[in-house]
Amino acid sequence: MSTILALLETRDGKLRPASQEVLGAARTLADARSGRVVALVTESAGDADASLGGFGADEVLVASGERHSPDGAAATAARVARETSAEVVLLAATVRGRDLQGRIAALLDTGFASDCTAVDPESLVWTRPVYGGRAVAKVRVVGPVAVASLRGNHFPVVRREAEAEVKEIAPEPGQAHVVTVEAKQSARPDVAEAARVIAGGRGMGGPENWHLLERIADAVPGMALGASRAVVDAGWRPHSEQVGQTGKTVSPELYVAAGISGAIQHLAGMNSSKVIVAINRDPEAPIFQHATYGIVGDVNEVLPALAEELEKQDLQ
Ligand SMILES: Cc1cc2nc3c(=O)[nH]c(=O)nc-3n(C[C@H](O)[C@H](O)[C@H](O)COP(=O)(O)OP(=O)(O)OC[C@H]3O[C@@H](n4cnc5c(N)ncnc54)[C@H](O)[C@@H]3O)c2cc1C
Repeated sequence: MSTILALLETRDGKLRPASQEVLGAARTLADARSGRVVALVTESAGDADASLGGFGADEVLVASGERHSPDGAAATAARVARETSAEVVLLAATVRGRDLQGRIAALLDTGFASDCTAVDPESLVWTRPVYGGRAVAKVRVVGPVAVASLRGNHFPVVRREAEAEVKEIAPEPGQAHVVTVEAKQSARPDVAEAARVIAGGRGMGGPENWHLLERIADAVPGMALGASRAVVDAGWRPHSEQVGQTGKTVSPELYVAAGISGAIQHLAGMNSSKVIVAINRDPEAPIFQHATYGIVGDVNEVLPALAEELEKQDLQ
């Protein structure tokens, strides 16, 4: 029987949304290939229990060490992939997933497809955007097992009535250990995981004008703040909010770009968003070529008007 191994991430003991999608994709593949889904957690287990059956897992293996170890987690995943004769190893294309995918593929002497947005369950041909989203590559992994990382917001989460069997297994020791993770304290969702994002660029004029974006984010449920690199380099916003080639890759349902020109390196991080709204006073700004809706205007006028209308809708 075909095994689809899903490597999951938790944060503060909770399964990360990106990992819920990984489980959903694993379930879809397993159903199409008459297989089963084995979920592996290599960090603090938290709510990684029988309830993961509801997200598509048949079996949950918990190999949590005291601290996350990238080489240890990769070795554990490779061992489990061999023991279960996994056909596919899936993980989220998060910072941690990107760190692990190459290590796992190397240990299994196989290739990997990174940052995939779709897969054909029969042929196992993976789809991934390349050149900043300007082209799409179709990839088939040559090797005994296909390792693939999945871009967030592209694979549906499965919800079903089921319980998974849970087993504790021994983690492989690693040489490197994460000692502390200093997470930014914010009531807003992480830009990489949010379904809605409003991002500001240099056209916002300065950090003192960010309240214009915050007001909109406050009016729209689950909206995260993002930023262009120009803004982060200027010290207006933290790097954790940067979207683009050297920042985070996002693909929310809605991406609002305010005062952002649309440089290729920024597009690389957000071009696969479902609906893109661009606000820019320059009608020739490149972002308009990628926008679903374009508003030519000054952010200082457009954003307050938009906020007022959204507040009237009482969406929260
Ligand atoms: C190797 C490398 C990696 C990079 N990685 C990234 C990355 O990860 N993310 C990223 O974003 N960039 C990245 N960049 C930088 C990128 O090339 C651009 O310089 C950057 O995206 C520009 O940011 P911006 O659009 O905010 O600023 P600008 O290009 O200065 O654009 C500002 C825009 O605001 C508009 N504007 C000005 N005033 C107003 C107003 N009052 N109302 C409405 N609109 C207004 C202007 O018309 C303009 O279009 C990278 C570059 C390199 C070389």
